[in-house]
Amino acid sequence: MTSASRPVLVINSGSSSLKYQLVDPDGGAARVTGHIERIGEGPSSVPDHDAALRRAFDELAGDGIDLRACGLVAVGHRVVHGGNEFHRPTLLDDARIAALEKLSELAPLHNPPALKCIEVARKLLPDVPHIAVFDTAFFHDMPPAAASYAIDRELAERWQIRRFGFHGTSHRYVSERAAAFLDRPRGSLKQIVLHLGNGCSASAIAGTRPIDTSMGLTPLEGLVMGTRSGDIDPSVVSYLWHTANMGVDETEAMLNQRSGVLGLAGERDFRRLREMIESGDGAAQLAYSVFIHRLRKYVGAYLAVLGHTDVISFTAGIGENDAAVRRDAVAGLEELGIVLDQRRNLSGGKGVRQISADDSPIAVLVVPTNEELAIARDCVSLLAGS
Ligand code: ADP
Repeated sequence: MTSASRPVLVINSGSSSLKYQLVDPDGGAARVTGHIERIGEGPSSVPDHDAALRRAFDELAGDGIDLRACGLVAVGHRVVHGGNEFHRPTLLDDARIAALEKLSELAPLHNPPALKCIEVARKLLPDVPHIAVFDTAFFHDMPPAAASYAIDRELAERWQIRRFGFHGTSHRYVSERAAAFLDRPRGSLKQIVLHLGNGCSASAIAGTRPIDTSMGLTPLEGLVMGTRSGDIDPSVVSYLWHTANMGVDETEAMLNQRSGVLGLAGERDFRRLREMIESGDGAAQLAYSVFIHRLRKYVGAYLAVLGHTDVISFTAGIGENDAAVRRDAVAGLEELGIVLDQRRNLSGGKGVRQISADDSPIAVLVVPTNEELAIARDCVSLLAGS
């Protein structure tokens, strides 16, 4: 049996959730998937990530999978922030984990749950390599013009303040799949990828290199998201401090957890938002309009950044499923070369599919993302030394 035909356990921990998948990196099939939600949110929920991971292992055992005997090749951990130091899949040992812990200052909302899961998983599976794959990695080599904030340079250097970008595993995977679908070498293509899920981000990619992306130092910047504001004048923070007596932590929580579509409409799920709009809810309509307006601004900006694009891909929960968002994101842009086929856009489907007209100069695709598979393959490549 080659190592590549053995499964990889991928662990993806969010602030209050934990997703896991046992993936066959060769064929791409997920043998088992699981999702534990509402961690630490109430008396009946799982108290913390330690307990959540133990529950995940119990669930796998319940499915008849003995992780110690199934030939596991690696455990792949999704880590949101790699800072400047980590921009490749990284085999974890005590020293690297200590270095990662330091990065939690840069990503206090995002990295600690992953670190907790790494600690527990290493205890439960001590004989298997544990590998971290970073959301920031793909954007590590973005041009300085896109990666730099226009602030005091020494301050930025001292405190590692730059635009890192996130969802990189998804942007890379989707751009690879789009090129394969179009049967064109990836190096010859310019691409815009729109990852629209609970978190939303856009990227402009020339060949294999990302030229810009919408998220910044943290995943707060850029597009309007389920609960995050995206771009906002940073003076809002000091203004709220002076006028509303809101502390920095309170404002940060507001911008991350109670803003975006949720903040505007009281609802973050786009299926429910659509029902609210249809029943005449003005706040839901405004939330949708703000979401679409920002998305269109980024599409236009990235067309200008790239000069032209060959393909625009929609991915993640909203991008893969919400035909109205796709229609409204590019409506009226025929003169820029984007011509949707409305019938194709409305018809569902499972794999990669084209939703632009055959004579559209720019191909518009729906490309289902699969971060778990990309992480599993990164683990195998690292272990194979490539
Ligand atoms: P994440 O992986 O970031 O947790 P997903 O990529 O699964 O998020 O996206 C979740 C979001 O996708 C949900 O909040 C919901 O708004 C949206 N979504 C999922 N299915 C549909 C659908 N059929 N129609 C519209 N939106 C959907």
